Amino acid sequence: MNSFKALGLNEALLQAVSDLGFETPSEVQQKTIPILLEDETDLVALAQTGTGKTAAFGFPLIQKIHSESRTTQGIILSPTRELCLQITNEMHLYSKYVKGLNIVAIYGGASITEQARQIKKGAQIIVATPGRMKDMIGRGMIDISKIDYCILDEADEMLNMGFYEDIKDILSTTPEEKSTWLFSATMPKEVASIAKKFMFNPKEVTVGGRNTGVDTVQHEYYVVSGRDRYEALKRLADANPGIFSVVFCRTKRDTQRVAEKLIEDGYNAGALHGDLSQNQRDLVMNAFRKNQIQMLVATDVAARGIDVDDISHVINYQLPDEIETYTHRSGRTGRAGKSGISMVIITRSELRKIKTIENIIKQKFEAKKIPSGMEICEIQLYHLASKIRNTKINEAVDNYLPAIHDVLEGIDREELIKKIVSVEFTRFYSYYSKVKDLNTSESPGGKGSLNDMPGAEAQTGDSVRYFINVGEKDGYDWMSLKDFLKETLGVGKEDVNRVDVKDSFSFFNTDASLTDLILSTFRDFKVDGRYVNVEVSKNPESGGRKGRDKGRRKKKERRREDTGRRSKAKKSGRRSGKKKNKFRDGFY
Ligand code: ADP
Ligand code: MG
Repeated sequence: MNSFKALGLNEALLQAVSDLGFETPSEVQQKTIPILLEDETDLVALAQTGTGKTAAFGFPLIQKIHSESRTTQGIILSPTRELCLQITNEMHLYSKYVKGLNIVAIYGGASITEQARQIKKGAQIIVATPGRMKDMIGRGMIDISKIDYCILDEADEMLNMGFYEDIKDILSTTPEEKSTWLFSATMPKEVASIAKKFMFNPKEVTVGGRNTGVDTVQHEYYVVSGRDRYEALKRLADANPGIFSVVFCRTKRDTQRVAEKLIEDGYNAGALHGDLSQNQRDLVMNAFRKNQIQMLVATDVAARGIDVDDISHVINYQLPDEIETYTHRSGRTGRAGKSGISMVIITRSELRKIKTIENIIKQKFEAKKIPSGMEICEIQLYHLASKIRNTKINEAVDNYLPAIHDVLEGIDREELIKKIVSVEFTRFYSYYSKVKDLNTSESPGGKGSLNDMPGAEAQTGDSVRYFINVGEKDGYDWMSLKDFLKETLGVGKEDVNRVDVKDSFSFFNTDASLTDLILSTFRDFKVDGRYVNVEVSKNPESGGRKGRDKGRRKKKERRREDTGRRSKAKKSGRRSGKKKNKFRDGFY
C-alpha cells in the first residue's frame, strides 16, 4: 500500500498530511520514514533537491519527540538562514496537530538574544545554521547534551560552505548514543568522510542515481591580459544573453567596483559582500532570486549564503587566494541535476594554477577564447531573432495597425525583417565592430604556446564553428548537445568541442575535415518532426584562426560614448521598471 498511513505515521501527522494535500509519499519518504520510525539508527539519504526530504526526516522526528517534555531532543542543521526558515515553516505545518511542540529556528544576521529567549521557553526541536548554533552553545544559550536526534540537512552544501569545523564542534557536545540522519543531494567524498567519522553503521537510502556532483559542471578558462579582465567579463556576459551568474572577486573593494561598473554599463548586476548590512544583502539576494539581477558579483565569504539552484554560470573574475576555494565557487552552479559552466578569467602568469585546480577537482579545463566582437554580434543577432519569434503578440497593437501599416507602406517582408533586426543589432554592432581581440593583445603568437595546456587542441588547427538551431529551450545543455552530436555524427568525444548552448540555438566546433559529414548529415534532418539545421557560422573569427590582424590594428579603439552599452543601460533600466529602481535606491 502506497500511503502515508502504511508508512506508520500517527493520526496527528496523517491529519496534517491531508491538510497539506500530500497524496502519496515521495520515493525518499517511502524509503526513509519506515526505517526511521522503527529503528534507532543512523541514516544517510541521498536525493535531489525537491524530492521531499524535509518531510522524510520531519515526519519521523515529530512523531518520535516527546512534546510533553521541554528538553531539546532534536536539532536540524542546515546551510543557510533561508533554508532554516523554510524547514521550520514546513515543520510547523507538519506538526500543527501536535500539542506543546515548540520548533525554533536560529540563524545568523538576526538578534541572538531574541533567539535565546525563544529557546529558553523550551524548544524540543531546534533548526539552525552551524555558525549560529556553535555561537549559542559557546555562550551557554543552548544545551544539546541530551538530544536523541541530529539531522544534517543538505550536508554537501554545508561542507561546501566551509562548515566542517563548526559541525564537528557541535557534534562533540552531543551524546554518543543519539541517532544522526544525514540528508544530501550529492555524495562528494567530504560527505562520505563525515558519515564515516560521525556515524555508526548508517543505513543507506539512495533515490535516483548516485550523483557525485562533479560532472555537471564544465570548467573553462580564458587567458587575457590583467587590464582586460573587466572587458573580458562583459564579453562573456554578452556572449551568453540569458546568463544568470555569480561573479567572484577576491576583495570587497573589487566586488563593489566591478558591480558598479557593470551597472553603469547597463547590466543587471548587484554586489554582495561583507561591508553591506544584512538588510542590503537581503535586498540583493531577493533581486537575484527573482532574476532581476543577472550578474551577482560576490566575495567568497558573502557567497556562502547563496541557495539558488538555477545559476547558469560561475565566473571567476579573479582566482581565489586559496585555490581550494575554487570548488566552493564552481559548486554554486550545476546543482539539482542541472548543468552549469564555471569560467575562469586568467592571466598568462597564473596559468599554472589551472593544473593545480584540475588536480583538486579531478576534471579537465577547456581552454577557450574570449568571443570576438563579431562572434558576439552573431550570437546577439540570433538571440534577437528567436526573441522576436517567441514574443507573445500584444493584442493592444491591433488598434494601431492601420496607422502602422501606413507608416511601413511599401517595405517588403525581406526589408522589414532587416530593419526590425537592425533596430537592436546596430547598437551592438557599432560597439563590437571596433573592439580588439582580447586573446592576443598580450601574447603575440601566444596561440602555439598554449599547446601544453589541457584542451588547447580545441583552439588550434583548422577548426570550423557551426550554428545549430537547437538550444536550452529544446532541453539541451552543453553535455547533452555534445552527446547528441557525437551520436548523430558517429564521431568521438574529442571531435566536437567549444559547445556553447544559448537559449534557442547553439554553436560548436569541429575539425574542418568533418564539415562535409556534418552538413550532409544535417540536410533535411528532423528530431521529433522538427528540422534541426546546422550551418557554418558566418563569423570568420569564431573558428579562432582568421581576422586576428584586424583585431590587433584596432587595439586602442574604444569609443564608449557612442556605443550600444549606453543605450542598453537606459533600456534595461526601463525594462525592469520600478522594482529595479527601488532596489537600486535602497542599495546605494
Ligand atoms: P527537498 O528538501 O528534497 O529539496 P522539500 O522537502 O523542500 O524537498 O519538498 C519540496 C516540496 O514538495 C515542498 O513544497 C513540500 O511541501 C512538497 N512535498 C513534500 N512531500 C510531498 C508529497 N509527498 N506530496 C506532495 N508534495 C510534497
Ligand atoms: Mg531540503
